[in-house]
Amino acid sequence: MGVTEPVRCDLCGGSHHELMFVGSDRLFGVPGSFPLVRCQDCGLNFIAPRPAPEELGRYYPQEDYDLYSKAAGLKGRSMDELARLLGPRRDRIAVYKQPGRLLDIGFGDGSFLYFMKQSGWDVAGVDFNQKMVELVREDLDIDARAGQLEEAHFDDGAFDVITLWGVLEHVQSPRQTVAEIARITGEQALLVIYTQNAAAPEARLLGRDWFIYEMPRHLYSFTATNLARLLARSDFCVSEVVYETPLYYCQMNWQYLKESRLGRRNDVIHAPTLADRLAVKGLSLYRNMIKNCKWSSAMTVYAVKRQKPDGGR
Ligand SMILES: [Zn+2]
Repeated sequence: MGVTEPVRCDLCGGSHHELMFVGSDRLFGVPGSFPLVRCQDCGLNFIAPRPAPEELGRYYPQEDYDLYSKAAGLKGRSMDELARLLGPRRDRIAVYKQPGRLLDIGFGDGSFLYFMKQSGWDVAGVDFNQKMVELVREDLDIDARAGQLEEAHFDDGAFDVITLWGVLEHVQSPRQTVAEIARITGEQALLVIYTQNAAAPEARLLGRDWFIYEMPRHLYSFTATNLARLLARSDFCVSEVVYETPLYYCQMNWQYLKESRLGRRNDVIHAPTLADRLAVKGLSLYRNMIKNCKWSSAMTVYAVKRQKPDGGR
């Protein structure tokens, strides 16, 4: 495995970390082993050494037809249908901001971009999947750009709201990504980040079987505390953290637990046994008990950019 840079913590720059475990790609089974470490200075969890971007490509499925057909079908879906899924995200953003310029980083199937456009927002997106970028640009008439955020060259102060739904944990340097976000947002811009919560008790309980480590695609796993610290470095102040655990996480946690501790392998989501259904039901009951509590496995962080006293950047 090619190591391209010295292993320093992206958040604090520290080089002392402890090994938590060596993991592998359990979702797609692509060969490779990845040490997960915890920074002894700030507590950030990350893969070190970090696979180089050109190597990471093979851990992402090349042709995601499901994604393409979802994007192609967007125009045929009613706003009511989309609102059931995406309405809560839009409405939470509306608490902070009137419709304006919004950028979605890592837009996936483009549904959030399309929904926000239909809701009166002036939207743009960036994603590394070239084919999706073309689809969204041509079919949905949205300013979509290919590559990493830094390669999109958006103007200074261009956006009022920036969203990352399950994206920050995938980027090479969250610190650089947030710094670029700070450059392309105006004063009092809203930054919304959905990511996993490494402070959830399951992280400690399940260890390598915690689905959320999702190696090697998740290069980082954050807690609300170290995420707030990361954002503060670029003048974003966290105003709210909303916690939840998606049902999918319960299903995948059970699948991984079963595989590694009982040696049984079957698709819990598409071909569940009776025991699987009961186990997922139990995990889901717990999920509902801790809803809105910081024990949940995922969080959405709302942060507002501080106003500079001199009015400049
Ligand atoms: Zn650190």
